[in-house]
Amino acid sequence: MTKEEEIPDWVGAQEFYDKYEPKEILGRGVSSVVRRCVNKRTDQEFAVKIIDITPSDKITPQEIEEIREATVKEIDILKKVCGKENIIQLKDCYESKAFFFLVFDLMKRGELFDYLTEKVTLSERETRKIMRALLEVVQFLHDQNIVHRDLKPENILLDDNMNIKLTDFGFAVQIQPGQTLKEVCGTPGYLAPEIIECSMDPEHKGYGTAVDIWSAGVIMYTLLAGSPPFWHRKQMLMLRMILAGTYDFSSPEWEDCSDTVKDLISRMLVVDPKQRFTASDALNHSFFSQYVVNEVRQFSPYRRFKVICMTVLATMRIYCHYRRAKPVTKEVIKSDPYAVKPIRKLIDACAFKIYGHWVKKGQTQNRAALFENSPKTILLSIATEAEESGQHSW
Ligand code: ADP
Ligand code: MG
Repeated sequence: MTKEEEIPDWVGAQEFYDKYEPKEILGRGVSSVVRRCVNKRTDQEFAVKIIDITPSDKITPQEIEEIREATVKEIDILKKVCGKENIIQLKDCYESKAFFFLVFDLMKRGELFDYLTEKVTLSERETRKIMRALLEVVQFLHDQNIVHRDLKPENILLDDNMNIKLTDFGFAVQIQPGQTLKEVCGTPGYLAPEIIECSMDPEHKGYGTAVDIWSAGVIMYTLLAGSPPFWHRKQMLMLRMILAGTYDFSSPEWEDCSDTVKDLISRMLVVDPKQRFTASDALNHSFFSQYVVNEVRQFSPYRRFKVICMTVLATMRIYCHYRRAKPVTKEVIKSDPYAVKPIRKLIDACAFKIYGHWVKKGQTQNRAALFENSPKTILLSIATEAEESGQHSW
């Protein structure tokens, strides 16, 4: 009797449907869909990742076999990392000939990606909490020679207490000590230079765990700036920027950030993987030190003098002008909506919804222009509300 004859094709699926009731879709991947589901007996909610391996015209038997093997690997790694804080817990899994069902704890707050989109940028304090948890998870994985290979804000979920849970171990792999990988996988904006090099040079010596630190550096930069360090409309040019490690801290968001945090990012985004920080190096960096006092910006005497002058000037300006402060009216908002900070934030968030991509793709992009040819209903309703309540001088 062959293995296929021992278990009927539908048994795994039947077991899943006996125990759980699938509900609405929470997210989608290339060959998977994630749904909320409810345990019929306990009424407890979970998330189920349903991986479709149904034979069809669109997919070759070889591709199906590859997805099947990759899912078996994903389950294997999920079981190995089970119980670790800040990693999603696999609760149950079922396999039938046409589907895999992977049942996880439900993360109602969704992806870090959506949270960032809503907030536009995060503070250093919030970034510290998220990055400490992420780097601790990465350290734990790397100690076991597990490389995640797809770290990005879409694969970081938030629990009810806003703690992160790393998910999507679809590209994760456990290597032997000293072994290197050559397979090109991951998400373009987060790819480490050595992965791109592997795609161009068949003789390349391969890559290892350091690729996750690069991606973590990209995430950290993005959380603070609201835009990724390497981005170009043309993917080829973006990959070139990554290969050369070309990025900067020149956007206005960085003016409010400490030198400490910039220093840590610049030690993670190092092109040479041997010179790049490890997860332990990063966790030992002063950005994560207990003493907040140590993390203030290191001002040179000249910078300190400049800050004092600017503070005095700003105080004078506020003192002289506060009586003349103009209320925000419909006209002000209509003429230059992007100049008003709360509206700027709203535009950034709306721009994401329209683009379905990062809210800021460069300093030259005029997001206010998105509203130039469309009804300004949102802006006008805000203006009307502000006028009616006769408040706010932004
Ligand atoms: P893929 O490998 O197809 O990218 P993921 O495991 O990353 O699949 O899941 C896809 C999306 O589904 C995630 O980005 C997230 O939005 C949602 N999702 C996955 N797991 C959960 C969960 N446990 N709770 C809530 N949403 C989830
Ligand atoms: Mg994913």
